[in-house]
Amino acid sequence: MQSETTFTDRSFSSQENSPLALKKIVSAGRGFWHDVSETDWNDWRWQMKHRITTVEQLQKFLPTLTPEELAGAQLANTKLALGITPYFFNLIDPADENCPIRRQMVPRLEETHTAPWEMSDPCGEDSHSPVPGLVHRYPDRVLFLVTDRCASYCRYCTRSRLVSNASGYDFHPEYDKQIAYIAAHPEIRDVLLSGGDPLLLSDEKLENLLSRLRAIPHVEFLRIGTRIPIFLPQRITPELCAMLKQFHPLFISVHTNHPRELTTEVRDALGRLADAGIPLGNQSVLLKHVNDSVDVMKALVQKLLMCRVKPYYIYQCDLIAGSAHLRASVAKGLEIMEKLRGHTTGYAVPTYVIDAPGGGGKVPISPEYVLCRNAGRVLIRNFEGKVFEYPETADGRPCGQPPKEISASELV
Ligand SMILES: *Cc1c(COP(=O)(O)O)cnc(C)c1O
Repeated sequence: MQSETTFTDRSFSSQENSPLALKKIVSAGRGFWHDVSETDWNDWRWQMKHRITTVEQLQKFLPTLTPEELAGAQLANTKLALGITPYFFNLIDPADENCPIRRQMVPRLEETHTAPWEMSDPCGEDSHSPVPGLVHRYPDRVLFLVTDRCASYCRYCTRSRLVSNASGYDFHPEYDKQIAYIAAHPEIRDVLLSGGDPLLLSDEKLENLLSRLRAIPHVEFLRIGTRIPIFLPQRITPELCAMLKQFHPLFISVHTNHPRELTTEVRDALGRLADAGIPLGNQSVLLKHVNDSVDVMKALVQKLLMCRVKPYYIYQCDLIAGSAHLRASVAKGLEIMEKLRGHTTGYAVPTYVIDAPGGGGKVPISPEYVLCRNAGRVLIRNFEGKVFEYPETADGRPCGQPPKEISASELV
């Protein structure tokens, strides 16, 4: 039967926000691109070439564009480029202005409002950069910026000053200098490739870079931070996986924020990476209208485990210029953590961190479980609010009294 395909031809319905529906793993579908051949659609270079990058394309594919979005899109290319792969675009719900995918990808006028406490380099990376494209903030590891390009651009990008090169930052990594610095610093045992998205490099370029890093004897551990498996699962080819596999121990951190991003396409791409022996972690950013809810975050972390990914970090949204409309409160983040720990699989519980403004690094924040602590005992509470005493002596050994639960009335 010939059915009329429109931009609403998607494999999900906007009504599907129940916890059960959030857990379903479905295809992103073909949406507007129903007549593109399978070969083209599954070719990552075709996806890159056909990204939505202009206001006109956005208006055509998303006729429900609001005035705030239209104004935002008109200004976007002077700040952080507009760019969305066709595959990922299909996850946008045209009927929902607050669609969690739309909020992450479609520019809004609010991006031009900068609060006094917001910054272009909120984590102070430039002041911790010994050579261009290298950030050395922690004693034993460095962040290696490989490129300023991504498959799609997140509106809250912490590195928007340099990513997409829209604001004239003129980012040019110099691999020779970056590698020479690492080789000259034997304390660096961990190199984290990021950007931009390192998996946008060709297999050959990436292999060359990884080989040069592996050739440095003191580099023990390699990591890639990427959102490609989510934006462009077509890029995760068997050839790429076979190439990456030569460089173990190699970990990959992906970036997902909402359970709807975990489609069958993404699950299969992540499966290919996992089958290549690559341990996978996920980093999320806590975002208003996207994942600032216990139901959404719980569905996300549980679905990640089903995709063989360990939830690693939840970031409090950095104080990046123009991000106030996407920022959720620390209180909300703590509430979510409170409802995860103990209530679901420990492997599913990430660490909630604030990347300290100005360059202090990641600081874990957690609901308070230690109620009181002195040389003789620790008083703790569990996820149900029950209070327990753990006795210990000054030398660290239990003092002989059995651990006991304390009733609320004993405490007051
Ligand atoms: C996040 C980050 C790292 C890696 O931190 P881990 O806690 O080891 O994941 C390294 N360098 C910089 C500059 C970072 O921002």
